[in-house]
Amino acid sequence: MLKKKRSLVTYTIIMCGLIMTVGIACLLFIQNSIVKDDMELQAYEKLLQEIRQVRWSLNYDKSDTPSIGREYYDRYEDVEDDDKLYMFLQSIKGDYIAGEVPDGYNEKLSLQSDLDIKSFNGVKYYILTRKARVGKKNIGNNKFMICAMVSVKDIKANYRILWYRTYTVIGVVALFFFVFAVGLRKLVTVPMKELNVAIDKSSQNLDFTEKLRYDGPFLELDMITESNNNLYDRVRREFERQEEFNANVSHELRTPVAVMHAQCQLSREIAEKNNDHEMLESIAVFERQTTRMKGLIEQLLQMSILEKNNVNPSVEDVDLLDVVESVCDDAEYICKKNIQFRYDLVPTIVKVNMNLIVIVVSNLVSNAIKYSNEGGIVKVTCGSDSETCYISVRDEGRGISKEQKNRIFESFYRADTARNTEGFGLGLSQVMKIAKYYGGTVQVDSEVGKGSTFTFIIPVNNG
Ligand code: ADP
Repeated sequence: MLKKKRSLVTYTIIMCGLIMTVGIACLLFIQNSIVKDDMELQAYEKLLQEIRQVRWSLNYDKSDTPSIGREYYDRYEDVEDDDKLYMFLQSIKGDYIAGEVPDGYNEKLSLQSDLDIKSFNGVKYYILTRKARVGKKNIGNNKFMICAMVSVKDIKANYRILWYRTYTVIGVVALFFFVFAVGLRKLVTVPMKELNVAIDKSSQNLDFTEKLRYDGPFLELDMITESNNNLYDRVRREFERQEEFNANVSHELRTPVAVMHAQCQLSREIAEKNNDHEMLESIAVFERQTTRMKGLIEQLLQMSILEKNNVNPSVEDVDLLDVVESVCDDAEYICKKNIQFRYDLVPTIVKVNMNLIVIVVSNLVSNAIKYSNEGGIVKVTCGSDSETCYISVRDEGRGISKEQKNRIFESFYRADTARNTEGFGLGLSQVMKIAKYYGGTVQVDSEVGKGSTFTFIIPVNNG
């Protein structure tokens, strides 16, 4: 089963995000429980202190009924405290005696030593009660309770600044994380993609002359770029060696093959004179093979000329439409298959070497015919846009697989391993060399079993 690959950067960002979220959640949880405990402690101390104050300012009327003295309330004028406190007195049985109770209060509080939380009218209150006694007498029914209440919301409000600071810190951390994520993408993913595109382009065009560049801050990416450039150097040297070998061999073979070809013609003439049919048959085979060899040598020589930087083929104004039409006319004429040709040609004048363009069109069209099925359609188009001009040949033949696509521009590569078709595997490599010579490229769009489109693209101003 194919494992789905994930981007390392996205993975890192997701993991960092998760770790950060869990960290923040833990910190919030800890802070919340500390604040909760602290709020209870604060409320307890506050209410206890208030109960003490009330106890000191208690007044009694003639029938010993207690009330909260004026001095208790007057004290508040000098104290800066926003918390609304409810202080009241209640009998041990729970009957209200004096003081202020919150809205909705309808309970009979029991005597308790610990802080409690109760809700009235949907508002939560901290409650503390303490026992009190009328005078010093400990007789009869002279006990009552001092009750103190403060709303939880009021106590919570004292922590507002703490929470603001906490959320500000979380916001700043989130902002840093966002900047980190965007930065990481920009500094790692983008250059990685650019490197990949450059490597893909080089290997598709078999052009390893342009060095990869990485100016970013990361050592690992620098190392990858460096080792790719070293690999490029080796591949380039290998190509140069191969091309030098091809050039030397074709040079050495050119003369003997030309002599053999000439001798063939002479022998044929003699055999014709002598009416020697057996000899004529044998000479025909010999002639076919020497013609093939001559073609191969010419192709190799042509390619080595393009490789040499000091040899510049002459240029002239060439109309791509004329070249395509004349090459296709010949191809249609000699085509042994039942192929339908379609054209969409726009006059396109470009400064190039006419012979090189003829080689391009002949190779692309002969391939389209060679690899098409009987009755297939071959469509040839040419034209230009503002910066480039193109010649495109589409067929409905057997198509090319993805693996083959990576190799078809190599010299002597033939995807057809059974070698059922004529050819040396040099045509496309020659077309690519010509495209590169003019600063262009050859694009392939193909699907196995459905056909292929080869597009030769060069800049309009290639000089
Ligand atoms: P050849 O002489 O073998 O045609 P080329 O360099 O022109 O050499 O092409 C290289 C290989 O690419 C071919 O052997 C063939 O497998 C594949 N190829 C080229 N053109 C086509 C096409 N139009 N459809 C399918 N395969 C193609």
